[in-house]
Amino acid sequence: MEEAGDVVLRLGADGQILFASQRTVELIGSESPLTGMPLEKLLTEDDRPALQAAQAEVLGGVRNRQFESRFKVQGKEVRFELRLSSYTSQQGAKELLVVGRDMTQQQATEEHLRHMATHDALTELPNRLLLSDRIRMVIANARRSGQNFSIATIGLDGFKKVNDGLGHPVGDAVLRIAAARLRKTLRDSDTLARVGGDEFVAILPGTATEAQIKLVTGRLIATLQSPFEVDSHTIYVGASVGVAVYPQHAEDEARLLALADAAMSRAKETGKARCVVYSQTQSGPPEHDISLEAAMFQAVREGEFLLFYQPIVDAHTREIQGFETLMRWKHPTLGMVPPARFIPIAETNGLINLLGAWALKAACVQLKQFEEVAKRPLYISVNISPRQFRNDKFLDVLDDAIAFSGLLGEQLVLEITEGTLMVDPVHAESILSKMTQRKARIAIDDFGTGYSSLAYLKRFPISVLKIDRAFIRDLPGSQKDAAICNAVLDLAKHLDLSVVAEGVETEEQLAYLEQRGCQYIQGYLTGKPMAANIAMAALRESMHLKIVHPDLRQVGK
Ligand code: C2E
Ligand code: MG
Ligand code: MG
Repeated sequence: MEEAGDVVLRLGADGQILFASQRTVELIGSESPLTGMPLEKLLTEDDRPALQAAQAEVLGGVRNRQFESRFKVQGKEVRFELRLSSYTSQQGAKELLVVGRDMTQQQATEEHLRHMATHDALTELPNRLLLSDRIRMVIANARRSGQNFSIATIGLDGFKKVNDGLGHPVGDAVLRIAAARLRKTLRDSDTLARVGGDEFVAILPGTATEAQIKLVTGRLIATLQSPFEVDSHTIYVGASVGVAVYPQHAEDEARLLALADAAMSRAKETGKARCVVYSQTQSGPPEHDISLEAAMFQAVREGEFLLFYQPIVDAHTREIQGFETLMRWKHPTLGMVPPARFIPIAETNGLINLLGAWALKAACVQLKQFEEVAKRPLYISVNISPRQFRNDKFLDVLDDAIAFSGLLGEQLVLEITEGTLMVDPVHAESILSKMTQRKARIAIDDFGTGYSSLAYLKRFPISVLKIDRAFIRDLPGSQKDAAICNAVLDLAKHLDLSVVAEGVETEEQLAYLEQRGCQYIQGYLTGKPMAANIAMAALRESMHLKIVHPDLRQVGK
């Protein structure tokens, strides 16, 4: 009996322990002697009915019963497989024999096998099997609770190159790091699975609106954009993400996965490193471009932003007086992204403070170089966004740009819009006065499109009005636009402000404006926004010709 197995017990017909083998005592580790104690006391409460039933059956004549039971061992539960049979003792009493096998090892093995069947060995993430199970669970949950969710398919960009170029061990390491980063970005209640070589799928419960999707996928894309350090390699991969939303796009698992996958392919085709939300109308409005934002952070690190300069010229002599600084984003795959597309995003996430500070400082430094070529004073006009204007650090940024470049304050024009001033006029007044203390001039950009009251022209220290392109475009044909331009020019004259007409594209427009006393113009006619080196060439040219009269230009043609 001592050698027979892990557990060997003899019980009386009432279930009390009459004998326990040494091994049993060791395994169960009870301090009080086992003999005299009912066996069921050693089991977890849940398992007691099974024992009682088995006891009754074998005492009633069934040969034996086999069942699993959990012993309470020092606060833990240990599984045993027990086999119960009855016999008649020499004294003629009915007794029970219990032999059992410790299942701990087997349990661990089973768990390991189950884990292996449902998880990816490389990254330890759930695999497709478990993913499918989890999706069915969230669907069931969503039907009951109404909490919608989305499925995001995440594909690594450029992973094949890593695998082919640096070998599989490096590729594996990249996948492991990518998995860990993605997992860390998500909530505990989100599921992240690896479903293919370089593909992951996330289930995002409660993430169903555009803003929520944007937030989460933006983070996912951003986290894969920072470099991967493996061995001595610095590796860049990115991610393209496709999203399908339950129940908007599909209500079953297979279709949700297929649509998210299709959206991801589309993200890859249209530039990578972005997120595309599936939309039924592929030819309709563009998909929510929600990962330009993530790409912007990368772009800042990679130095993809640059400045173009558009000449602002004297309407009469056409001599360059200054330049407006216009930001450009040279995206590696999307090409030049126009500011109208990225400034609003930067404005929402605050990146504009960083970009704007850089633009201001770089433009001031650049102006110094322009002046060296032109051999005369010029000015630089820089757009200041509402958020920058509100930022308390802006004055420091301004001081830094002036001090660093060695520019005179009066060579700097800050372009703000009417809307920016009107958000908080009291605050605006104090900021503007501090700007003018530094001698910087204030221009109202897109004048005429923002605010209908002219009273602020009196209240704030403004020097320049930039007439919006909308009023210039149809000159001189449009009587209404002509009337507005004339009124603005009149107003400016009486308030002693200079005027820049924006978006002048034709000689007729220029002639009309000049005749009405408009001093400065800016537009494709006299120069498109251009890179700094081209602007310098233009300055050299205008130095030779000094005054380029329109008539002389005609002769040149
Ligand atoms: P804005 O300040 O009104 O700049 C003038 C815009 O008109 C520029 O567009 C310029 O390229 C365009 N333009 C100039 N002349 C002509 C013309 O003859 N015809 C036509 N069709 N367009 C002309 P861009 O460069 O796309 O900039 C758009 C806007 O983005 C700017 O409008 C400005 O509000 C904003 N932006 C650009 N750079 C910056 C920056 O560094 N900081 C901030 N906060 N905003 C910027
Ligand atoms: Mg401007
Ligand atoms: Mg403008």
